[in-house]
Amino acid sequence: MSDIEQKEIRTAPEEEKERCRENLEKAIAAVKEALPGMTLLEREPMSAHCSFRIGGPARALAVPEDVMSLAKLCSILKENHIAPMMLGNGTNILFPDEGLPLLFLVSTEKLQKLFLLPDGALYAEAGVPLSRLASFAQQNGLAGLEFASGIPGTVGGGTIMNAGAYGGELKDAIESVVCLYVPEQRLYELNNEQCAFAYRTSLFKRMGGCLILSVVFRLEKGEGETIAAKMRELNERRRDKQPLDLPSAGSAFKRPEGHYAAALIDEAGLKGYTVGGAQVSEKHAGFVVNRGGASSHDVYELMMHVRSTVYREKGVELEPEIIILPPDYKLEDFGPPVKGNRVTFNEAPGEENADKEN
Ligand SMILES: Cc1cc2nc3c(=O)[nH]c(=O)nc-3n(C[C@H](O)[C@H](O)[C@H](O)COP(=O)(O)OP(=O)(O)OC[C@H]3O[C@@H](n4cnc5c(N)ncnc54)[C@H](O)[C@@H]3O)c2cc1C
Repeated sequence: MSDIEQKEIRTAPEEEKERCRENLEKAIAAVKEALPGMTLLEREPMSAHCSFRIGGPARALAVPEDVMSLAKLCSILKENHIAPMMLGNGTNILFPDEGLPLLFLVSTEKLQKLFLLPDGALYAEAGVPLSRLASFAQQNGLAGLEFASGIPGTVGGGTIMNAGAYGGELKDAIESVVCLYVPEQRLYELNNEQCAFAYRTSLFKRMGGCLILSVVFRLEKGEGETIAAKMRELNERRRDKQPLDLPSAGSAFKRPEGHYAAALIDEAGLKGYTVGGAQVSEKHAGFVVNRGGASSHDVYELMMHVRSTVYREKGVELEPEIIILPPDYKLEDFGPPVKGNRVTFNEAPGEENADKEN
């Protein structure tokens, strides 16, 4: 069985870390000078920015007001050899207790434009919560996003992860995605096929370096009350089955082909298994919950134990769904260039209708 540690953790040699540290300090100084009005949180505890409530301080967390200031920020970072990591609602990430001294995070919190395009498609910026997106679709008589109304992530995070539930996945509703490809500092618009969506992954997740700015959704016409009833039903099922009263990052493991992770974990006798403050939920074995004061090491150790026990008892290898960040995480290894159509900022779809949200 492969090891999560080997797969997820890359440690950089000391001199490389020192170079990164110097670049990062220069980048932060340049950002402060060029974008003095932008919120820039320094040494901000990541426990305050994720649903697990775990994680030490990141060196910097910027919250750009809009897409233009995000692009300017990214170009300053690129000049200083810093690749940022985007942050949505932090509902699928385990941040390390040691913090992230080499990381510059960019939050999509303020990218909140959401409106109907003239052809009936729906345009959403990356920071729009999936619950708001689903409600907006319902209010406009558009069906197909009912499954997303209880997923606590954003449009950007959901697109990268191809979030899904109850038989639906975002890929079934996405028409196109506009992203900023950091290595080239260029915007691309990718159609659904070019995004190469698959179960809980996408081109963006596999290659890194792509910051999702906005997504266009193509939905079916539906009846408002029927859509609302479906959303209520699914959210009730979620409340019944999931430990929503405790901090978590959702399902800890992906669904292995032909099995359900929660059933395998339950059958391996691991429901309620605890390491420090972390526990395999007693309500839903697929969730790892923070029962209070859990460290990232508790969660990691618990996940490793679950993985090896399930492999031993059931012969199935579980793959983490949660993104586990090691302390010296940085995005430096980019994949091949994006296949998509180049766009410029004023060509971003629907920009001219930006005030039409009802
Ligand atoms: C209680 C609970 C229930 C959940 N239920 C479900 C469920 O039913 N189905 C499901 O699929 N998931 C579920 N999740 C997991 C999670 O909500 C989803 O994976 C969600 O899509 C993550 O979105 P986010 O905005 O929180 O992303 P984050 O956790 O902030 O980020 C996730 C990844 O996406 C990247 N990212 C975020 N925004 C962008 C962007 N704009 N551009 C580029 N990269 C970006 C981040 O760098 C990171 O790598 C659940 C989580 C919780 C806590």
